[in-house]
Amino acid sequence: MEIRYRSTRDANNCVTASRAILNGLAEDGGLYVPEQIPALEVPLSRLAGMTYQETAYTVMKSFLTDFTDEELMYCISHAYDSKFDTELIAPLHEADGSFYLELFHGATIAFKDMALSILPYLMTTAAKKNHEDHEIVILTATSGDTGKAALAGFADVPGTRIVVFYPKNGVSPVQEKQMVTQKGKNTCVIGIKGNFDDAQTGVKKLFGDQELRAELDESGFRFSSANSINIGRLVPQVVYYVYAYGRLLAEGKITEGQPVNVVVPTGNFGNILAAFYAKNMGLPVGKLICASNENKVLFDFFETGVYDRNREFHLTTSPSMDILISSNLERLIYRLAGDDAEKNAAYMADLSRNGVYKITDEMRASLGDFRGGYATEEQTADEIRRLYEKEGYVIDTHTAVASRVYSDYREKTGDQTVTVIASTASPYKFARSVMQAIDPKYSSLDDFALIDELSGISHTVIPAAIEEIRTAPVLHDQVIEVGEMKDAVKRFLGVAR
Ligand SMILES: *Cc1c(COP(=O)(O)O)cnc(C)c1O
Repeated sequence: MEIRYRSTRDANNCVTASRAILNGLAEDGGLYVPEQIPALEVPLSRLAGMTYQETAYTVMKSFLTDFTDEELMYCISHAYDSKFDTELIAPLHEADGSFYLELFHGATIAFKDMALSILPYLMTTAAKKNHEDHEIVILTATSGDTGKAALAGFADVPGTRIVVFYPKNGVSPVQEKQMVTQKGKNTCVIGIKGNFDDAQTGVKKLFGDQELRAELDESGFRFSSANSINIGRLVPQVVYYVYAYGRLLAEGKITEGQPVNVVVPTGNFGNILAAFYAKNMGLPVGKLICASNENKVLFDFFETGVYDRNREFHLTTSPSMDILISSNLERLIYRLAGDDAEKNAAYMADLSRNGVYKITDEMRASLGDFRGGYATEEQTADEIRRLYEKEGYVIDTHTAVASRVYSDYREKTGDQTVTVIASTASPYKFARSVMQAIDPKYSSLDDFALIDELSGISHTVIPAAIEEIRTAPVLHDQVIEVGEMKDAVKRFLGVAR
């Protein structure tokens, strides 16, 4: 059965999977969504015996129906290889009665690697299939982790260039160092004087700029996106939820068909949406618990049905979740509105005009198994210390937000369902915040001394991604105003004026 992809803002805009990946964002500003969610093609019992790569093939084949088997196998085998430091690719770690799904064993030690190690292969394959003769320019806004993972994936990939915008004062020191030391002639990294939402809105504007599109077209370029607005990011993220279920079955932690709750530390709503898609494929997922930090716009939305971005923006120790406009929520809103592009477009127009919209009671009722929760900065730090002291397990700040939200949820509801917590980053990436949470005495150490201490107390090996940046030279030092993004892109591409 072929699955086509429709824009959330225009019912007539309908394309193949490969075209949706190439385009990134729909021209009307909407996001591509699959016309229907395919059912899992294998019985649950089979999942227990499948490798990560086999699971990826099963899931992705049913979403990306215009890719051939050979094309998909090629993409999967090149993406999920020794770049990951474990053959399991995404291992489960049991601690304090739940399962931490470690999604940070890839090249840049955050969960973005799960999708961004395969996106360049999907993108270049899609380009070939569609006889694309333009060079693809990946435009990316990052809250810290997407940028590096996308750079690592696209660096020196023929036929592509990549531009990354990050909030100059809104990422961790390790995140910034990872990006500004990026090699590759086709890469460009720029700090902006603003926050992530400014960067993301700026990038969306560039996508929608018809004049710029025409100008680039003439010079042989076309834009695409590596953000989770690209369906080529979302589909690979469905895989690890299916895989986790298989691992739990294999280890005898659950029996076939038994539901599993999923807790996801959320920013742009991509990761948790992938879990929702997995549930819609027929994976026995119970509650989908959406965890926010102090930027709790999503928590408030789940409580009230009102999405309101008009509020103070907080810089937190979980910077990849410092987001007030969660782009992928649009895909859920579209769904709740009965796949009605016009209704969805009206909500999105409200959001862009007034920064707020309110869904109907009927739509709220169909939110079903979604739950919202949030953790303050203090609660997040407490959770890191608590888990370390109780279990000797060190988690990063983002995972800690989810872990704390889950502890609160379990206490409040008494829900004893087996639970998977998405562990989205290595603690090494946020070593300062993590070590200070464990003991304030670490405050006086420099970043790399902290990393050595972290290795000591957690009995884990320092990841290669960290060793690499110890001595790497800074290759990108541009910092610009938000209003200068267009000119910066044109300069990098050598497009006139
Ligand atoms: C990107 C990111 C998140 C948020 O994921 P979304 O898909 O944007 O909701 C959470 N934690 C880490 C470490 C991230 O890099």
